[in-house]
Order: sequence, then C-alpha cells, then structure tokens
Amino acid sequence: MPTLADYPKIAAGKVRELHAIDDDHLLLVASDRISAYDFVLDTPIPDKGRVLTAMSVFWFDLLGDVVPNHLVAWDDERIPAEVRGRALVVRRLSMLAVEAVARGYLAGSGTVDYTRTGSVCGIALPEGLVEGSRLPEPIFTPATKAAIGEHDENVSYDAVVTEIGPDLAARVRDLTLDIYRRAAEHAESRGLILADTKFEFGLIDGAVVLGDEVLTPDSSRYWPAETYSPGKAQPSFDKQFVRDWLTSPASGWDRASDTPPPPLPEEIIEATRSRYVQAYEQVTGRKFADWIG
Ligand code: ATP
Ligand code: MG
Repeated sequence: MPTLADYPKIAAGKVRELHAIDDDHLLLVASDRISAYDFVLDTPIPDKGRVLTAMSVFWFDLLGDVVPNHLVAWDDERIPAEVRGRALVVRRLSMLAVEAVARGYLAGSGTVDYTRTGSVCGIALPEGLVEGSRLPEPIFTPATKAAIGEHDENVSYDAVVTEIGPDLAARVRDLTLDIYRRAAEHAESRGLILADTKFEFGLIDGAVVLGDEVLTPDSSRYWPAETYSPGKAQPSFDKQFVRDWLTSPASGWDRASDTPPPPLPEEIIEATRSRYVQAYEQVTGRKFADWIG
C-alpha cells in the first residue's frame, strides 16, 4: 500500500492538494478545510473532503455522455488508506487557464458587474434584475484564475479567445453551458436550484476534458428551491451556519478587520457537517453512509 508521502506534492490550493502518481496520473486530494469570507478557517469540518469527493464522482458519472472527464478511479490500490474516500486518481491534464463559469441566476460577482455595467462578462442583460434573479438563459461568464489569496476576475469571451484561441474557446463555452444545463435539470429534479457553477478543463491529445472537482458546494451555488426568493442574497446551502455565526456577536469577530476568524464552536462544526452530508444526499439520492473511507 502506498502512503501519501510516496507521491510528490505538485500543487496545493486552499482546500485541495495535487500529488503526482506517475507521468500520466495524479492524485487529487480533498481536505476537510473550509473557507468563509475569503479566509481558510482553522477549524476543519469532519467528512467535508469525503462528501465533496463523493459528489464529484456522482457528477462525473452522470455527465459521462455530455463530456469526457479526468476520473480514473475513486477506490483503487494506488489510493493511500489515509486519504481513501477523499482522493481521486485522475488523468494528468494540461489545464486551460480559464475558470469556466456558467450562470443561470444572478448572484455574487455577477450581481456586482451587472449593477455597475448592466452586463456580466460583456453579456448585456435585461434591465431590472436583482440579486437572485433567474436569467433569460444560462450564460458563460469566464474568469481568470487568481493567485492564492486573490479573487478570480471576470473576463470577456474575447479575453478567453486571446488566451486559448477561438476553437478551444468555443468548445469550452459550449461544453460549459451543456454541462450546466444537464446538471441544473438534475438538480431541479431533486428540489435544488443550481444557480451557477465553475468548471476547469484541460487537454489530452488535443481533446478537451473536464478536470478538477465538479458541481460541489465549493464550486457551485445550490439553493433550496423551496425557499428561493429573488431580491436578496439566498442562504448558502452549505456555509450558512458558519457565516451566520462568524458575523454574530457570539464569535467576537470583526469582518472588517484583517484578523483571521476565530475557531468554530462544536455545534457549528456539527451543524455544518450535517449540511454537507444533506447536500450530498439531496443532490445524489444516495446515502453518505454508503460512501467509502
Ligand atoms: P482554490 O480552488 O483554492 O482557489 P486552486 O484552484 O489553485 O485554488 P485547488 O482547486 O485546490 O487549487 O487545486 C486543484 C488544482 O489542480 C487546480 O490548480 C487545478 O487546475 C488542478 N487540476 C485539477 N485537475 C487536474 C488534472 N487532471 N491535471 C492537472 N491539474 C489538475
Ligand atoms: Mg480550485
């Protein structure tokens, strides 16, 4: 059995790490770390890495006929026991430097851009939309990948063409919208709105392949359809307990300051853990207890 130390670490993001298995394969490891308000918190959420990994596996499988993906194995002798259930063996891709975002609803940086310019990533939208509004149709709103600690920046489609050329840009845009539509349709059948989501694609032998994690609460906004009401920020499906506690007097934290947030109390950790499990079970219709690790 290999250990994680046998695989050189080649990259580390806020919540995930990438290790090299061999020339063609990588191990994508999801940690239990959680971020909120642009801080990675000191307190991990138990099982979060396994929940997000299980959810990605579900989606790769469901989307298999829409797009090829990098997943090779989720339970395999190459996966060290210490990360079983939260690590995937994937094909090594040459990643495209585009955060491929699809939006079906106005939220977050989309609302900011729209309020300032009436468009998002250069796509003009009708007047009178508010935070949470459903868009007339899903749009492709690419962003550039920011360095750790910085925000991704929304860019125009033309900027993507400049970055990767017209053919790849069109392929990435079309795939992003196709995947979004298919995923949003599934989410809807499970009582969830998929407001927006981000994909990362890479190349193998010229073919565009879906990489990274997919359609997890970390890369997507899921809203319960039941409580959806545009005109205000929709509650976050997964992080709301964390956000509410951090901004409540109980935490003693001043968001406007530069100080990192305090550790989370036990009941917030537990409530958040069960939200992640609930998100997995609602999206997939599967029991998290049946997942490995
Ligand atoms: P963050 O998401 O925390 O802002 P990040 O995107 O840089 O940071 P992670 O998402 O944690 O980092 O790590 C995943 C990294 O692995 C990303 O840089 C992603 O582009 C890369 N990656 C994902 N799948 C593959 C793959 N199949 N081949 C090569 N690189 C990949
Ligand atoms: Mg990432």
